Amino acid sequence: MESCIFCEIINGKREASIVHDDDRVLAFMDIFPINPGHTLVIPKVHCAELTGLDPDIGAQIFKVAMRVEQAIRQSGIPCAGTNLYLANGSIAGQEVFHLHLHVIPRLVGDGSGFRFGSVNRSHPPRQALNEFAAKIKTRL
Ligand code: AMP
Ligand code: ZN
Repeated sequence: MESCIFCEIINGKREASIVHDDDRVLAFMDIFPINPGHTLVIPKVHCAELTGLDPDIGAQIFKVAMRVEQAIRQSGIPCAGTNLYLANGSIAGQEVFHLHLHVIPRLVGDGSGFRFGSVNRSHPPRQALNEFAAKIKTRL
């Protein structure tokens, strides 16, 4: 495997400001925060994307993210709301290919935001929605 900056953090070879550490999950401050308190939650096992990740570890990542989100709100760090964000694949904006869930404090007027604007959205007929649902359900 090529070198992975997040594996280096897990292995103590790269500096990080850690907020949570258990046997399966690590959480630490993002080095280029969107707002103060921006935290990344990662599995300790190297996994580039969600595909292939043990669902129990996925559940632990989300549990830790929920706890971090509450801790941010209670910490005194300015936080009017939060985004939990996971970029899965480069087309989705992923830049570090060790899976990570962002916990991002949001502030009024911070200028950030997701760009899923109404221009990109359709309103398909119910039949089309049902067909998408049926395709997904067969794989669940
Ligand atoms: P993504 O675009 O979802 O892959 O996000 C990668 C995130 O990793 C970005 O928000 C970076 O600021 C962050 N990042 C990159 N290198 C480090 C590092 N050494 N320590 C902490 N965060 C990092
Ligand atoms: Zn890694």
